[in-house]
Amino acid sequence: MIQIKDLYKVYEGNEKVEAVKGVNLTIKKGEIFGIIGASGAGKSTLIRCINLLEVPTAGQIFVDGVELTGLARRELRKARQKIGMIFQHFNLLSSRTVAENVEFPLEIVGVPKERRKKRVKELLELVGLSNRADHYPAQLSGGQKQRVGIARALANEPKVLLCDEATSALDPATTRSILKLIKEINQQLGLTVVLITHEMDVIREICDRVAVMDNGQILEVGEVNQIFVAP
Ligand code: ADP
Ligand code: ADP
Repeated sequence: MIQIKDLYKVYEGNEKVEAVKGVNLTIKKGEIFGIIGASGAGKSTLIRCINLLEVPTAGQIFVDGVELTGLARRELRKARQKIGMIFQHFNLLSSRTVAENVEFPLEIVGVPKERRKKRVKELLELVGLSNRADHYPAQLSGGQKQRVGIARALANEPKVLLCDEATSALDPATTRSILKLIKEINQQLGLTVVLITHEMDVIREICDRVAVMDNGQILEVGEVNQIFVAP
């Protein structure tokens, strides 16, 4: 579903930072793939290169058979609809209600109003927030905000869900409930999930395979129980 070939990302600032250095990875359809590593390892840069939120310095990204690197802006916008993303700090629009946040990506691609309303209703049911549709983000708990983030990410029926430290701002119980929801979505919708984290427990809880990243490179890739021997 996702192929990353010889990927490099160099940040050009006062100081040059080589955040990703020659990464090759293949992520299969329907799997939950974890990327673990210490802070600064390059995880966030790598996952943001998958949907070209970050433009790679060199290398290629293929999603569902389409090479995203090298697409013109219009085609890229279309290809990106296959990829949903959720964030550590949720990135909700504070001046919009829960329903309006979820509706936003549907408006952007021009879905007619009636279909949008129907879809928002379905999505809020899916994440268990039907009774919060008219609340504002500030009125929600962290776990509820992330549920809105998930509903918004799924609005345009993506094939891939990217999770950038999606549970790092949540307490352990809420983390488990969000991971459970991600797993359900993976199973029900057959969605491919890529998840970055610095927490071993998150990987153990839901990942099928895991890559260990350090200093911009992938050190190891394998099934979770091969990489982490039980304590
Ligand atoms: P991780 O997600 O594993 O913590 P990041 O991808 O955020 O790692 O960062 C990898 C390296 O790239 C770090 O050295 C970080 O300081 C640097 N970096 C990340 N984003 C930027 C940026 N926008 N500009 C310059 N350097 C950056
Ligand atoms: P973290 O991954 O540490 O939670 P944030 O989620 O706050 O970091 O934001 C990461 C970056 O992603 C920000 O620089 C922001 O500009 C960008 N970003 C956030 N939300 C979106 C979005 N919906 N679409 C495109 N870019 C976004």
